[in-house]
Amino acid sequence: MSAVIYPKMAVIGCGLIGSSVIRGARATGVVGRVAVADASDAARQRVAELGYADSVTADVADAVEDADLVLFAVPVLAMEAAAKAAAPALKAGCTVTDVGSVKSAPADALAANVPDGCFVIPGHPIAGTEQSGPDAGFAELFANRWTILTPQARADAPYQAALERLTEFWTRLGANVELMDEKHHDLVLAVTSHLPHLIAYNIVGTAADLEGVTRGEVMKYSAGGFRDFTRIAASDPTMWRDVFLANKDAVLEILGRFTEDLQALSRAIRWGEGDKLFELFSRTREIRRGIIAAGQETPEANFGRDQRLP
Ligand code: NAP
Repeated sequence: MSAVIYPKMAVIGCGLIGSSVIRGARATGVVGRVAVADASDAARQRVAELGYADSVTADVADAVEDADLVLFAVPVLAMEAAAKAAAPALKAGCTVTDVGSVKSAPADALAANVPDGCFVIPGHPIAGTEQSGPDAGFAELFANRWTILTPQARADAPYQAALERLTEFWTRLGANVELMDEKHHDLVLAVTSHLPHLIAYNIVGTAADLEGVTRGEVMKYSAGGFRDFTRIAASDPTMWRDVFLANKDAVLEILGRFTEDLQALSRAIRWGEGDKLFELFSRTREIRRGIIAAGQETPEANFGRDQRLP
């Protein structure tokens, strides 16, 4: 616990991620005052009850007034409206960031609406759960996880100083910060996060359709693999609808490659090419071991669901 980085932080959208940022910022002392704006009556009421913000309002402009850090934690396609609402009240010299799971679209929305004199630094903490809302957040969510920042192409000293401060903010919340080009981010995340969610939504949807045929047996005998897909497929529908619409090009590109690979697997099964299956399954097992070795997962048989990573 040491110096305050931002005397006032405004968080727009106080769900899982917004509330985790506030809890982490409170726990580590990186902010002074905290103002929240949220469009949901129920969320605002819970934020007031939980007491982790100094003020809570439906009015985005009110919340951002005098803020040194403005963090948008709303669904990706809501960023533009939120940025427009904030723009007239932003303090000169403040840092404006976001946590959207896609970077190109929010970066454009922020760049188009935030006035000159503020520093726009889009971001994405690669951390989350399938839960939503102000109760779902916890201070350690970002610990030992990556936060990717996609700064604008600006080399001027004030912008670089703002980038350093935001990097320190995330580092104090326990995150490992990496800088990346926003288009590259969207392609990488299409592979590592967006496609797996699409597959999970699809598998669980297919199983749900089959349930009528098998009279509940799909659900009753669901084994570990399927249960893990259901956890992913329980993720917030609004958030994920926005991710797929906002990252259309990258997701379709990766989905095309995935479909080709699936066809190849289907062919290997049809023609009894066990060596091909064995070779792929061995390679993928090594990838899982690499992820554990990199500290991004635990080796527990339940996929570490009962644990929070260190
Ligand atoms: P969440 O739990 O659903 O919370 C979002 C909150 O923002 C809701 O209370 C929502 O109200 C409110 N909101 C929506 N539009 C708004 C607006 N224009 N102005 C003010 N408030 C508004 O969402 P989340 O899971 O924290 O996700 C937030 C962002 O983080 C998303 O961009 C997502 O892509 C990103 N992210 C999520 C995860 C994850 O695992 N969940 C991980 C990394 C990044 P309503 O319910 O009334 O719409």
